Amino acid sequence: MPSATRQLLGSLRLLLADRGAPAERLAELARLVAAGMVAEVCSVYVMRPGEILELWATEGLRSGAVGHTRLRVGEGIVGTAAASATSLNLADAQNHPAFAYRAETGEDAFASMLCVPVRRAGRVMGVLVVQNREPRQYAEEEVETLETVAMLLAEMLAADAGAAAPALPLDAALPRHFEGAGLSPGIALGPIHVRGLALVPTRLLADDPKAEHARMDAAIAAMRADLEALLKAPRLSGEAPREVLETFRLIAGDSGWITRLHEAVAAGLAAEAAVSRVMGETARRMRALSDAYLRERLADFDDLGNRLIARLTGAAPNGQFAPGYILAARRLGPAELLEHHARGIAGLMIEEGTATAHATIVARALDIPMLGGCRGALASISSGEIAVLDADQGRLILHPEGELEAGYRATIAARLVRRAGLAAFRTRAAISADGERIQVMINAGLALDLAALDQVGADGIGLFRTEVAFLARGGLPDAHAEQALYARVLEAAGDKPVLFRTLDAGGDKLLPGIERAEEENPAMGWRSIRLSLDRPALFRRQLRAMLRAGRGRCLRVMFPMVATVEEFRAGRRLLAEEAQRVGPDGPDRLLVGAMLEVPALAWQLGPLLAEADFVSIGSNDLAQFLFAADRGSPQLSGRYDFLSAPMLALLEQVAAAGRAAGTPVGLCGEAASHPLEALAVAAVGIQGVSMAPAAVPAVKAALVATDLSQFRAFLSGLRQNEAAGASLRPAITAWARDHGVPFE
Ligand code: PEP
Ligand code: MG
Repeated sequence: MPSATRQLLGSLRLLLADRGAPAERLAELARLVAAGMVAEVCSVYVMRPGEILELWATEGLRSGAVGHTRLRVGEGIVGTAAASATSLNLADAQNHPAFAYRAETGEDAFASMLCVPVRRAGRVMGVLVVQNREPRQYAEEEVETLETVAMLLAEMLAADAGAAAPALPLDAALPRHFEGAGLSPGIALGPIHVRGLALVPTRLLADDPKAEHARMDAAIAAMRADLEALLKAPRLSGEAPREVLETFRLIAGDSGWITRLHEAVAAGLAAEAAVSRVMGETARRMRALSDAYLRERLADFDDLGNRLIARLTGAAPNGQFAPGYILAARRLGPAELLEHHARGIAGLMIEEGTATAHATIVARALDIPMLGGCRGALASISSGEIAVLDADQGRLILHPEGELEAGYRATIAARLVRRAGLAAFRTRAAISADGERIQVMINAGLALDLAALDQVGADGIGLFRTEVAFLARGGLPDAHAEQALYARVLEAAGDKPVLFRTLDAGGDKLLPGIERAEEENPAMGWRSIRLSLDRPALFRRQLRAMLRAGRGRCLRVMFPMVATVEEFRAGRRLLAEEAQRVGPDGPDRLLVGAMLEVPALAWQLGPLLAEADFVSIGSNDLAQFLFAADRGSPQLSGRYDFLSAPMLALLEQVAAAGRAAGTPVGLCGEAASHPLEALAVAAVGIQGVSMAPAAVPAVKAALVATDLSQFRAFLSGLRQNEAAGASLRPAITAWARDHGVPFE
């Protein structure tokens, strides 16, 4: 390595270690590279939402262009380098057919240009450019040096992701974007409203504690009545998310909390100030808890506290907005979200939102797009700003400018039109163009999900995640409540099959009431059937509740995360013993299945298929363990493709063995929620797929339009073709497009 290059990389490494403001670090990088490579210009273009490359730093071009010069991917030489993901070394850039002149940069003075894409994990994150006045071809070594710098830059951009945007010298009217976790899918565009953390009481002290105690009691009673009314609100589609709200009601009636409120009044505070103080104490106590699940309940207390203060002061608990708004909040309770739903909320960003928070469960059930995280967003948003909340891509964009905004508006409109068109598929069975019947079922977990069965015309519930209700309740429900829920599910399904999955606790689904050891890899730890077999009393109780709920019907029960046939046998033995105990109060017919989500089970198919009544492949965990890629890691999302030769080979092997043994094999999890994945799963011989309810119409539409035997032949040819690479997606997408199969 030439010493000038070594020196340059040495100073860049120092820069990488520096945790200064992102904009300054990029400017310094441009300066160092220009000096180190004896170039008159060095510029950094960064990929923004909507496939736009934006100039974020430059040494040598006009500084006014920073934050303003933008090129679409494929536009200009910079855009071409990004689109092709290859370096371009041009002695005479301005005469290149792709050259796009941007007057604000002053770049017409420079003839030669070297553009290197900034790549990380297969994604282009930007383009690094050097330019010189005189026409010259850059030497091989210079290209290599700039490519090495691009690698360092990729790490810098990845480390700054989320924090970078607000720190850059962009004026407020330019788009700013924040990365977050998509907690409930969908896209919303509209004015954003920032919800204040708490109402602030103006009256603090009171002379007459007796009167304040009475005010407090009256306010608590009125708040409870409000909650009851909210639960009965006819505007809530389907059934209210009872499991969530029952817990919420319990919190509202929590005697410890109410006692603390009265103690604060007894100390001389006005009732509203007492609520405020107890809210503050509760927040402090709960933030210190190590149990993430309990910490999430803080949002519930906030919600209740605000309701009480609003009752006591006559203030509106939260503002009045025109429908179509996006709400941004640090925390939000479930009841408040229900109110927002009734008012027409379009999207939700909760900074402290997590996958298991009550508001998230409600948002998913009500189909409200929701993001969690978006570090730094709340601090820089002002109510009224226009924003795009893209929960599918995990980003919040403030001030989406012209093209970007138009693009999102078009996507939202197209989705609405599509949704309306897809409604026709509600009453259609999923039969392929060449007459193959595929069972299309839904994944569910709350009573609230049941309405979807009919709304989308599904063939049944292919996965009922029993732990969701446990999580929503905040603990282990009593046996009666559990049985009542399962009975309600079976009742709603009527003749359609329901595959109840026994408790899948552990991993990311931590349940209060079950002690757990610290584990380095909880997804591969003491969870699911492992935990159930080690806690037989808890497991038996759940099995009994299912058996009793299934009285007089056909009951289907499956065990999650089975790794050995022995585990399946052990689960089934316990189930048989409980069935014996329940006797005539149990189901007429009992079918017992295993989930195949641990790859090892695929090499035990002989005994498994002989003994199990059905098998359901858990696509989320199977993909996670097949590729050894954490399903929750944003860095890994999209790196390995479900539509790939190894995954499809495994599915085909299981499907063929199932057919030979006469044991039905289905697939659940999220994979089949995407039409192309559902088609591929059906093509390799799996005849039942279960997915998020909202995905059913689109999957049916794709199946109905596909000649499955033709697609099967195409797919098997593709899988033999080594040149297809790690992902078969581009080829499958092209096939679908050419054959008029809707897949978006
Ligand atoms: C799966 O892993 O695909 C599955 C259905 O289970 P989970 O609830 O873990 O997503
Ligand atoms: Mg799983």
